[in-house]
Amino acid sequence: MLAATCHCGSVRIEIPRRPRTLTNCNCSICRRYGPLWAYYQAAAVRVTAEPGSLARYVWGDRSLAFVRCANCGCVTHWEPVQRTAASRMGVNARNFEPDVIGHVKIRRLDGASTWKFLDE
Ligand SMILES: [Zn+2]
Repeated sequence: MLAATCHCGSVRIEIPRRPRTLTNCNCSICRRYGPLWAYYQAAAVRVTAEPGSLARYVWGDRSLAFVRCANCGCVTHWEPVQRTAASRMGVNARNFEPDVIGHVKIRRLDGASTWKFLDE
């Protein structure tokens, strides 16, 4: 288990292993937030937070919620609005200390239009 917190420490997030790649997406929300996404099965990720410290932003087809700390504003993850056994989750690797994540290839995803990786 690898752990990180938001800047103020109100939100803690745990992932089962180092990511194999990180995704830098250019869609309308990601280019504003600037996260590096690591993807996991939602059931494998643990989020613990002080009461009232999670703020969610849901838009578009309303299938995903982007979650940030209500105190310091750091985006910690996205999660499915309606979770199923197969649900995935995106964790913002920028919250982890760099040596926890290690040197991982960053892939550029064209989420703005083609949904293809731009580095293939
Ligand atoms: Zn915080």
